[in-house]
Amino acid sequence: MQKWIAKSRKTHIADNANLFKPSEQPLSVDATDIPVWESVSKNQFDPNWLTLMETHQSSILPMRKLKRTEDYRSWLVYNFNEEDPKASTFGCRLCQDYYDSFKIIARPRSRMSIKGKGVLRNNAHANAKLINEHSDSSAHSAIVEQLKLQFRQTVSDKMLHAPIVI
Ligand SMILES: [Zn+2]
Repeated sequence: MQKWIAKSRKTHIADNANLFKPSEQPLSVDATDIPVWESVSKNQFDPNWLTLMETHQSSILPMRKLKRTEDYRSWLVYNFNEEDPKASTFGCRLCQDYYDSFKIIARPRSRMSIKGKGVLRNNAHANAKLINEHSDSSAHSAIVEQLKLQFRQTVSDKMLHAPIVI
């Protein structure tokens, strides 16, 4: 399993290889702990966030994009600030959860990848740009790619170990 991951990383995401810390050790993940794309990409976007965004930040958030575009919902988190709702920020759940465990070294590290921080600009255009740029960033792409690789490995393991029916 670990061998496969190391080899796959080399062959499939060679472009992102320099984003990972060089290490003598293979990924220190137990097979049972491996997060799989299927579960991490599940829509965890809370629909109440849209209501809160609309109530407090509709003039500075790209509301139409947030309502209509679904692909960012696998990762976007809203850090609602109860004391100062207009200062609520947003971040990336996948980068927050896996930046360290996947040993991503891309710098500077986005505040979107740090739990409890998040980002916010003062107009909708700039915030839309932040969302797009994060989605396209090399660190975010490397994490998504790694999660997908692990998902494919989990699926192929299941197939290999499934009873053969003739
Ligand atoms: Zn991310």
